Amino acid sequence: MSNHDFASLSVSAAQLKALETLEYHQMTPIQAQSLPAILQGQDLIAQAKTGSGKTAAFGIGLLQAINPRFFGVQALVLCPTRELADQVAKEIRKLASFMPNIKLVLLCGGKPIGPQIGSLEHGAHVVVGTPGRVQDHLRKNTLKLDGLKTLVLDEADRMLDMGFAEVMQDIIDQTPKQRQTLLFSATYPDDIRKISKQFQNNPVSVTVESEH
Ligand code: ADP
Ligand code: MG
Repeated sequence: MSNHDFASLSVSAAQLKALETLEYHQMTPIQAQSLPAILQGQDLIAQAKTGSGKTAAFGIGLLQAINPRFFGVQALVLCPTRELADQVAKEIRKLASFMPNIKLVLLCGGKPIGPQIGSLEHGAHVVVGTPGRVQDHLRKNTLKLDGLKTLVLDEADRMLDMGFAEVMQDIIDQTPKQRQTLLFSATYPDDIRKISKQFQNNPVSVTVESEH
């Protein structure tokens, strides 16, 4: 078994089956470098280009940390745009296709809020969304993050470029201090260093320059 085999990780049989169905035979470089730390519950800051497989890196990690018997939001993924949130939700649903008890809810702006509230009332373990709409639900009290284990800031540099810094801060303030925070970014400017310092606890740092 090579150290790029998913089977070398401590992940469930259901997870390995989903990866097989997806025909993900080997970890991409970012996955191989980040998954061991993610699965140990460490904070992580990862810089890698588009198309390097970041979604599965955090998706596998957050799914393994979920207790399906606890009906509360345990993982939150914030994405800069609806399109990206939609893609991330689709990928995590595929990764969870053999974990039927795990429920994912997508909370994006530009969509009616009523059905989102209904889905949240039915119980959600994973929320994927855009910052503005996630904040709306927190204000309405239709979303609670006090049982959160994993927070993912996907494309964090783009979220900052789009002016979401304050909204992100407000959302993160409503999560437990003991959470795991995974920060993904294509670039590594000063403001990313700053939010890492602010929101992360001794993060493992991973950089992958080339595409897989
Ligand atoms: P990023 O977020 O880094 O831009 P994505 O997570 O969107 O990248 O993944 C890019 C593409 O690579 C997707 O089509 C995804 O299905 C595919 N992919 C991810 N991991 C693997 C893997 N281990 N093996 C093969 N394809 C993969
Ligand atoms: Mg991505």
